[in-house]
Amino acid sequence: MSFSRCQCDYTELAPVLTGSAVGAYAYGVASAQSVDAADIALYNGWLSQKYNAGMAYMERNSDVRTNPDKLLEGAKTVIVCAFAYPRPGSIEWGEGALRIASYALGDDYHEVLRRRLDIAAAEIKRMWGGECRVCVDTAPLRERYWAVKGGLGYIGLNGLLMLPGAGSCFFLGTILSTVSVSPKEPLEMNCGNCRRCIACCPASAIKDTEYGRTVVDCNKCLSCLTIELRGELPEGTRLRDRLYGCDMCQSSCPHNRLTAAPEPLPEFKPRSSLLNLKKEQVENMTQEEYSKLFKGSAIKRAKLEGLRRNARACD
Ligand code: SF4
Ligand code: SF4
Repeated sequence: MSFSRCQCDYTELAPVLTGSAVGAYAYGVASAQSVDAADIALYNGWLSQKYNAGMAYMERNSDVRTNPDKLLEGAKTVIVCAFAYPRPGSIEWGEGALRIASYALGDDYHEVLRRRLDIAAAEIKRMWGGECRVCVDTAPLRERYWAVKGGLGYIGLNGLLMLPGAGSCFFLGTILSTVSVSPKEPLEMNCGNCRRCIACCPASAIKDTEYGRTVVDCNKCLSCLTIELRGELPEGTRLRDRLYGCDMCQSSCPHNRLTAAPEPLPEFKPRSSLLNLKKEQVENMTQEEYSKLFKGSAIKRAKLEGLRRNARACD
């Protein structure tokens, strides 16, 4: 018979979350309260500028997005786990290959994280009782906000979560729990005087705001355009060699260049078939070839038409 006490200290979660079965590199723990007014203002300001580039799902469910209780009734704790993927600088590309964002070179992170977080959620329920809900990029929950609240990292000027001493090449997955877990303290860190990612962004997509934070304009960001946009790219868009995504604001960041790289999960090891894709090959790819090549890959999000369009805009 299991003993459950419906509360614990965040340190007690470490063996569950960072053990080999789940494999999180690190985790944060926050109390499941309503989202801060300042953060809601930043998000709404971003929407009002139309920086979401027509991605209407980002405008919906604002009540759920600001209140975790709407996703899991009685939620007391938000646990955010970080899972390492390969850094862009570590990828060995074939001669003349088109580039794919390093996070997308292995298996689809949605499935990998869900499988691993389901194990964690079952263990949390077994040990401490209560209910859990796993969210991986599909529910209206802003992982980065909760990661900051839960002391996992801070938001860099590139808009990504920065883990101290480990950089930003991590997927984030969340477990909401009705168990009361003592939270971690948020970190007092920021980018200091560095603005390197802003200077290196090929699309000038990182914008200052009146809220003292930067945001990304998805109308310009090459990652958003190559992955999320349906239909034609804006007139005159040149992608150089970027077939899917853009890694520049990560690869230029000193925290991803000068710190020891965390070991990526085995599922995210780059598939050799994706390191050698040529422009002509993508332009002429059949649906059958596409389905075979990208089986179990997050790249399917762009669809064959989207990849062909991107290849046409490459040099
Ligand atoms: S992904 Fe690329 S285009 Fe988008 S903000 Fe980062 S550097 Fe700029
Ligand atoms: S490049 Fe500099 S400014 Fe940009 S996220 Fe990294 S540390 Fe922050």
